[in-house]
Amino acid sequence: MPPRTMLVIPCYNEEPGLRTTADELRRILRQLIDAHQIDAHSCVLFVDDGSKDGTWGVIRALHNEDPELFHGLKLAHNKGHQNALFAGLMHALHSDADVAISMDADLQDDPGAVADMVEAWREGSEIVYGVRDNRETDTAFKRGTAHMFYALMKGLGTETVPDHADYRLMSHTALEALSQYHESNLFLRGIVPSLGFPTAKVYYKRGERVAGESKYPLHKMVSFAVQGITSFSTKPLSIITGLGVMSTLTGIGILIYTIVSLCAGNVVSGWASLMCSVWILGGLILAALGVVGEYIAKIYLEVKQRPRYIVQESI
Ligand code: UDP
Ligand code: MG
Repeated sequence: MPPRTMLVIPCYNEEPGLRTTADELRRILRQLIDAHQIDAHSCVLFVDDGSKDGTWGVIRALHNEDPELFHGLKLAHNKGHQNALFAGLMHALHSDADVAISMDADLQDDPGAVADMVEAWREGSEIVYGVRDNRETDTAFKRGTAHMFYALMKGLGTETVPDHADYRLMSHTALEALSQYHESNLFLRGIVPSLGFPTAKVYYKRGERVAGESKYPLHKMVSFAVQGITSFSTKPLSIITGLGVMSTLTGIGILIYTIVSLCAGNVVSGWASLMCSVWILGGLILAALGVVGEYIAKIYLEVKQRPRYIVQESI
């Protein structure tokens, strides 16, 4: 039986390019349906993540033109890419899709890879990762920072798939497992690999954005990276403890040195090293407090158990 497939597309202010994306997705789905690779009731779910432009209007118009093919979920507020994606995946789970494939609204994730993903699912994989085999469309800065991030995550003991963003297929079983994660600090690129299950990778070429501009400016990228690290690893806390022990030992060394130079009569020398110590230690203490604070903020957000998103309308 070909799988009933739901493409889940989070959209934030994507009005300029959404029609182009919808046309392309329609073309790909029709092709796969005609080839009996996916079920005839396969569809596209656009999740409007509280857009401020006319995104929802476009989604509604698409739904009116083809109610079978285009579905829409409107979140009441902008809750961020990960939450919008999660909302869409849970909708796919509850509407009994056999597989859900998440991809960006800007056609950067080549929809041509959907056929390979479904094939990998047919061969027994519950999760199929779309992995980009080029980073030429990225700036050197984004490329460099991305690779540093993967290395850091690996060093901290968190499993992520390098060069994989959120273009992936998840089976009904995998979605059910995902639905048991109740954390409000979502980092799907870390959660999904931790689910287990047989997985596969499909390689694709990542293109340029079809229209509009990136919704991930530098500050969002940095906070997403911090989110990834602090959601999966408590190693930064252990590192701080290590640093604390090290600087205490250094302090004892300096104390001995001071006593020795005092006995030798050199009282004024050492001003420079004193200044350095004050600044370095002050910086270390503040940074350490900051890291501890990040975790406390997380605990605070988790204990409140607020809903991750609120659905305003579903079509
Ligand atoms: N997105 C979202 N909510 C946000 C930010 C982004 O749903 O708050 C969506 C966006 O519409 C797109 C996807 O997440 O479909 C990825 O964003 P973008 O393409 O801007 O990121 P980039 O590819 O530049 O990293
Ligand atoms: Mg993009």
